[in-house]
Amino acid sequence: MQVLKFGGSSVANATNISRVLDIVSKAARKDRVALVCSAISGCTDTLLGLARTERGSAERAVMLESLKTRHGDIIRRLFTGVEREAVSSKIAALFDKLAVAPEDEMVTFGELFSTTIIAEKLRCEGFRTKWLDSRILVIKDNTTLTYNNISTAVALEPEVEVFVAPGFIASEYDGKVTTLGRGGSDFSAALYAAATKASRLEIWTDVPGIMTANPKQVPAARTIPEMPYQAALDMASHGAKVLYAPTVQPAMEAGIAIHILDTFEPENPGTVIKALPEAEVAEWMGVTSVDDTRQEESLLCLVSNGRINGESACARTVDCLKKAGIRTLSCSSDGTNVYASVRLAVAGEALNAIHREFFETAPATTVNLYIAGKGAVGSALVELINESSERIARRTGKVLRIAGIADSHGWTLFPSATGKGPVGDPQEATCTGIARPIVLSAPRGSIFVDVTDSETIYKEYEGLLREGLNIVSSNRRALAVPFVDYAAMQAAAQENGVFLRYETTVGSALPMLESIAAGANSSDEILSIEAVVSCTLNRILSEYTLTPCSFAQIVRKAQDEGLTESDPRIDLSGREALRKLLILAREAGVPLEEEEVEIEPVIGPEYAGLSLDEFYARLEADEPRFAALEAAADAAHQRQRFVASLEKDPEGPHGYRASIKVKNVDASHPAYRITGTENAIIIRSAYHPYPLLIQGAGEGARLAAASVLNDILR
Ligand code: ASP
Ligand code: MG
Repeated sequence: MQVLKFGGSSVANATNISRVLDIVSKAARKDRVALVCSAISGCTDTLLGLARTERGSAERAVMLESLKTRHGDIIRRLFTGVEREAVSSKIAALFDKLAVAPEDEMVTFGELFSTTIIAEKLRCEGFRTKWLDSRILVIKDNTTLTYNNISTAVALEPEVEVFVAPGFIASEYDGKVTTLGRGGSDFSAALYAAATKASRLEIWTDVPGIMTANPKQVPAARTIPEMPYQAALDMASHGAKVLYAPTVQPAMEAGIAIHILDTFEPENPGTVIKALPEAEVAEWMGVTSVDDTRQEESLLCLVSNGRINGESACARTVDCLKKAGIRTLSCSSDGTNVYASVRLAVAGEALNAIHREFFETAPATTVNLYIAGKGAVGSALVELINESSERIARRTGKVLRIAGIADSHGWTLFPSATGKGPVGDPQEATCTGIARPIVLSAPRGSIFVDVTDSETIYKEYEGLLREGLNIVSSNRRALAVPFVDYAAMQAAAQENGVFLRYETTVGSALPMLESIAAGANSSDEILSIEAVVSCTLNRILSEYTLTPCSFAQIVRKAQDEGLTESDPRIDLSGREALRKLLILAREAGVPLEEEEVEIEPVIGPEYAGLSLDEFYARLEADEPRFAALEAAADAAHQRQRFVASLEKDPEGPHGYRASIKVKNVDASHPAYRITGTENAIIIRSAYHPYPLLIQGAGEGARLAAASVLNDILR
């Protein structure tokens, strides 16, 4: 069984009833239907008015006449010939009964009129139809009896395809005819559904489901696709007219989902109300209002589907109303919903203000990413973006879009509707290399992401920045360039209002550059920076302390694990550390150049020009020297650490001394305890009595990708 309920506007006239018949016919082809209908719109109000007029008065005659005309028109449009006569006489007989009915029963005739006409029409269309008398079957406040009555009535008619039952009307236990309250047809439908253990309950109305607000008051309201029973109950109980609140209970107990659908847009999926697991993070469902005309107040209710922080939700509510120039008379929360009252005159504005604040999030901005580099970091980045873009969009309003990916063979571009177009005017472009296709096609504000380790790509940075593209880079070779080039890039970024971020280039995801820049920007003077930022050397030195292996063995192991460059001499020479130190120093405002750094490499020039095998042999032969250094450190209770440092020194270039060397540090030094591929930086500055220490993991493609993503989103 499927229960379909249509409201007053869905059966308001012959045209609308035809829509209803279409929907019912379609459903009846799948399974038996119990059709529950309201009176035609306005009818119940007129009947209530009628009951208040005097018998025999002209006023009553006018009201009766208008009802007869409206129903007569419908019949004339839907039926012809003998069928028309038969339906007309049935309706005429009902009007005769209405004329002599007790005043308090008059209101029950609207549903009798509408369902009599519709049942007849369905019969004429060839459906085996049975009209059910809800005045006998539905017993007010007695679901057990009601369910028994309905299921028996249905069981007695196995042949029937469509049952038609009036909504709204019922009887008291003693048999007196009554109603289920205004809007009660929804409730009737839920009772029929629960009684017949229906597979579906559809409430057809004139809006596309339950909406985030009443669309007549809040034009920006939108349909809520699904919601739990409780939230639907809360919205219905606090003013959402689309659903009569008592409807929820019988459906919920019987575990039947309630579909709220739009007769005038039958393809719209509307809203499904059903059992849902409790939301981990509560979401706002909708805002409703009930007007209290006596107090001149409107009671607003902001409904959620879970546990909320009532205090902050109230504060946000009051705040957004205040911004709209509306005073909140009272505001409270029960831990799920927020209840606020405002003056009746500003209720509409208040609903719109709350809706704007809680339901109309700023339009998401799309961030186009052009990713150069398909290596470990590039792949991890693409993976990370694919995994988390939805969450990122929710949290930041930024929709990350990979617009292009390049490897050494060139770009694969994914064109978008919002781009400048596939190719612009080649004359315009200032870039010539890998960046050229990007400059030609990327919308302003896109981000060029350099996750290569190219030595030459930096030559394109300035052109990209001048074209209005932002750059996020993990490529330290691109930043550890001669200072003039570095300064030109920074100037290009500044002049064009774009950013150049490269936090990943030193200490991977650790916020080292950010911390130094923060100090430098606030004119704090850096006294010294000590950085243990060479993962490879740090790992080799700390392992040498801890294991009995020879230095050569440890270097070879690191190489086998892929931790070193293909020629480990590059690591041992301190080149990587040098690049990082240049970047660190410049971030501190010191225009350091490569030549100004004193380097004491772990191995001397005698190692150059050897084959790799010869190199390892020589290293092994040198073991006594390494062992002696280690023993000396150990005897002094110190450890060897490869440290890049920048220290204030009036004699040095730019007032600093920069060096890279193995230092013996004692237990009081923060670098003493770090091991493996951990990184650390110790920043001493004029303002801060204690040094700032940043320490943590400094290695791994996933970590680097996360850091790049952080720069993208910052
Ligand atoms: N006809 C009744 C009313 O207007 C019941 C209903 O429409 O649900 O209140
Ligand atoms: Mg209704």
